[in-house]
Formats: sequence, C-alpha cells, structure tokens
Amino acid sequence: MKIGVMCWLDLSHMQEKNKRAKICYLCGEMIDPKTKDEDKRLSKDHVPPLQFYPEEIRKTAKLNLKTLPAHKKCNNSFREDEEYFMHTYFPTVMKAPIGKLVAKDMKKRFQKPQGQIISKMILKEFDTVTPGNIYLPPGMVIQNIDAPRADRVVRKIVCGLYFLENNKFLPHDTPMNIKFFLYPEDMPEEYGTLCKIGSPKGAYPHVFAYRYIKIPDFHCWSMLLWESFIFCVIFPDLENQAPNAEDD
Ligand SMILES: [Zn+2]
Repeated sequence: MKIGVMCWLDLSHMQEKNKRAKICYLCGEMIDPKTKDEDKRLSKDHVPPLQFYPEEIRKTAKLNLKTLPAHKKCNNSFREDEEYFMHTYFPTVMKAPIGKLVAKDMKKRFQKPQGQIISKMILKEFDTVTPGNIYLPPGMVIQNIDAPRADRVVRKIVCGLYFLENNKFLPHDTPMNIKFFLYPEDMPEEYGTLCKIGSPKGAYPHVFAYRYIKIPDFHCWSMLLWESFIFCVIFPDLENQAPNAEDD
C-alpha cells in the first residue's frame, strides 16, 4: 500500500469561529464567497452523486440528500468519471428492484453526445480473451474496467462521507484499500464481518446505503449501491497515529 503525505484538517474550530467560512471538501481549500473566478465559485455537491438517484425517485420521494460545498472546478473535475461509473455499472443494476428506473435514466443519457462517447469507450473494454490470454467460450465476454477511474468516484464518495461524519477534510489521495464485491457471499470473512457492523445509513437505501465503523487505527466503510454490489473501503487512521518517541 502506498503511503503518501497526509494532511487532515479539523474544521470544527474554524467553522464555529466563522459559520460562513466554507471549505471545499474536494481540495480542502477555502471557498471565497466574493471570488470573481468562475472556477473557484461555490457549488453544492451531492454525496453520493445526485445522478445515482433515478429522476422518478427524486421527483416522488422526499429525499433528504446530503450536499457539501465544493469549488465549481473541483466539482466538475469528477463529472466524466461519474458518467463512466454510471455507464459501467448500470447493467449490474438491472436485476435490482430499482433497475428499471435506473435504466430509464440511462436511456436518456445514452442519447446525449457525452453518453455516446462513453458508451463507445466502454464497448471497447469488452473482450473475448482474458488478460491471461485465455479464449472465453462462445457467448462469453470479459470487461476490462478502468478501475482507477471507477475508484476515483468511490474515493470521492468516501471523502464526502468522511466529511459529513467527522466534519473533517480527508485528502483525496489518502491511501485506501478499495474492494468491489458483486455478491455478498464473495466477500472474505473479514470484509463480511465489517459490513454487518452498525446500522446502514442513507437517504434512500434502495439506491445507496453505507456502514461506517472506526476500529483502532482504521476507518472502514461498506457501501451498497442500488442493492446490487458492494464497495468496501478501508484506510488507516493516520491522523491519530502515535508520534515517534522522542528523548526528553
Ligand atoms: Zn476545491
């Protein structure tokens, strides 16, 4: 696991001092309400992304969706990754109760120029030969998902949830162990155990539900998306790591 330079920012003191001060949860820098720089303007970003919730649900259910402040540019920098994420994983969602509503939204997206570009890109990810050069039986294909791209979206969600739970900025490059499980039974015992601790949270669990626990030295998250698959994310609690012993 790559360990980078960590920088946590405790915002509770700062926000108490100046309730109007806003921190971008994506880059950790202040958002100046008077800025004339369009890129640095305040925007509200949904955690998880708003597009996860089918339009019909957003119109009919009273969802208390969470948002966080972010610079417009920081927010927009994830747009294509989120599109990729939706296009990549939505076929997996089709069997879920919410599948038809997600598909309805995706149909509209496919018709847009950006959706068509991403769809073509994803189609190229399918292959009849595995990375190990094994030819698959007729009718079978393998999808070589752009995992770093999908993980970028997962990281963003975790950073947002961390901010909401702890009122602290979590750097996007925090070293995280991210695992994808299509079926709960695929999970190794240690992950399965972690995923059952605590009550699931989420404005609309048919779309997104998560569990968060902090065990000594680690933050552990499990996120169930569209009741179809799970991402487990674990990262070390470097903020409270004991400092090196020093001589008196
Ligand atoms: Zn920012």
